[in-house]
Amino acid sequence: MTAAAKKYHIVTFGCQMNKADSERMAGILDHLGHQPTEDVEQADIVLYNTCSIRDNAEQKVYSYLGRQLRRKQERPDLTLIVAGCVAQQEGEALLRRVPELDLVMGPQHVNRLDDLLEQVAQGSQVLAVDTAYIEEDITKPRRHSTVTAWVNVIYGCNENCTYCIVPYVRGREQSRSPQHIRQEIEHLAHQGYREITLLGQNIDAYGRDLPPGSIGQGIGGKITFTDLLYFIHDVPGIERIRFATSHPRYFSPRLIQACAELPKVCEHFHIPFQSGDNDILKAMARGYTHQRYRRIIDQIRQLMPDAALSADAIVGFPGETEAQFAQTLQLVDDIGFDIVNTAAYSPRPGTPAAQWEHQVSDAEKSDRLQRLNHLVNQNAMERSQRYLGRREEILLEGRNPKQPAQMMGRTRTNRITFVDLGAQGSQDDAHWMGETVQTTITEARAFSLTGQLL
Ligand code: SF4
Repeated sequence: MTAAAKKYHIVTFGCQMNKADSERMAGILDHLGHQPTEDVEQADIVLYNTCSIRDNAEQKVYSYLGRQLRRKQERPDLTLIVAGCVAQQEGEALLRRVPELDLVMGPQHVNRLDDLLEQVAQGSQVLAVDTAYIEEDITKPRRHSTVTAWVNVIYGCNENCTYCIVPYVRGREQSRSPQHIRQEIEHLAHQGYREITLLGQNIDAYGRDLPPGSIGQGIGGKITFTDLLYFIHDVPGIERIRFATSHPRYFSPRLIQACAELPKVCEHFHIPFQSGDNDILKAMARGYTHQRYRRIIDQIRQLMPDAALSADAIVGFPGETEAQFAQTLQLVDDIGFDIVNTAAYSPRPGTPAAQWEHQVSDAEKSDRLQRLNHLVNQNAMERSQRYLGRREEILLEGRNPKQPAQMMGRTRTNRITFVDLGAQGSQDDAHWMGETVQTTITEARAFSLTGQLL
C-alpha cells in the first residue's frame, strides 16, 4: 500500500439512486489508489451517503457520526464526509452543527469526489452543494454485483410533488446522452453483466431536456424513454432490462407496447400511486387521478397478464380523512400488488405540505400504516401463489447466505427466488453466477419463492 493509499468505508442510506452514487464514489476512491474496508474502525476515510426522504432517515446520519467524531479527536487525519440528500438539504448548517466534518457534498458533485478530496488534502473544509452539471464520469463504479448493474439515465426531478424533498436536493432533470448510456451498457456486457436496471427518479421524463434528434429522430423529435429502450435493447450479452421509477402522469401506452414487444424488458413495473383518493392526489400535485392509474394497470395487464406490479404509498398526508384513506385501501385491494412500499407522511423542510394545517396525528398515521401493511402483505401472499408448481427462469446472482446449498436470484417478474441445486450443489459459485436456470417453484412466501433446479 503506497504512503498515500488509505482505507475507506462508505455507509449508504436510502434509494437505488444513492446506492448507485455510492458505487461511483467507491470507484473514484479505488481510482485514487485507496482500498475499501468493511470495518469502519479501520477506515481513514469515512463517507456517509445520506437520505432525507423522511425525518427518521435524516436523523440516522447524526447517530452514526457520533462515534466517528470521537475517533476524530484521537485521529485528526481521519477524513469525514457527508454526501447525498441531507448534505444538500443542510449544506452550511451541517458544517456549523458538525464542524469536525471535512467535506459536505451534494448528489450533483458525486463525480467530482477526487477534486473535492484534493481540496481537503490541502487543508480546506469543503462545501459542495451549488447547482452543478453532472459530467459523465470516466471512473468505473465499484458495483455491488457482478451479474446485475444499475445504470443512471436521468438525474434529478422537475416535478413538484408537495411532500417531496427530491427536487430540492437532487436538482433539475439532467438526462444522460443515449450514446453514453449505450456505451456504459456495452461495457457492462463486456464485463459479463447479464442484467441492467435503468434508473431515474422520474424515468418517464427521460430526454425532455435533451436537444431534438439525439438518436436521429426527425426535427423536433425529442427522444423519450421508450425510444431509449429500443436504442439499447440489442446490446449483446445483456439478457434482462429493468427500469425504475415510473410516474403515472407520463406512463404512456407506447411504453407499455414497447415493454410487451421487447423480449429483454422484464415484466415488472414500479409505478408509485401514493394515494387512492383524487383530492389527496391533487393536494400532492401528482397530476393524475386514481382512475387514470387504474387504466394504466389495465393496459399493462391486457398486454402482459402476468406482469408484477409494485408501488409506493403514503398514509396520513395532511388533511387525509378516514374516508380518503379507505380509497387507498380500496385501490390496493382492487389492483392486488406484488409489493407496495408504504410510509407514513413525514413533513420535509422546505416542502409545501410541511407548512399545511390539518397535519394527521402520529397515532392516526401508525394505525393507518398498520392496516395498509396488513392488506399489502395479504395481497403479496395471494399474488405469490400463482408461481407454485410453475416453471420459472431464474437469473442467479449469488449464494443464499442462510442456506449454502441454495443459490439466490430473481424471476423476470422480480420475485426473489432461492434455488435448490440438488446434486449439482457442489459446483462453485463461479459456475452458477450469472447463469439463467430453469426451475420448478415448490414454495411461495409473500415476498420470496423457492425453486427446484430442473
Ligand atoms: S416525481 Fe414527485 S415524488 Fe418522485 S422524486 Fe419527483 S417530486 Fe419526488
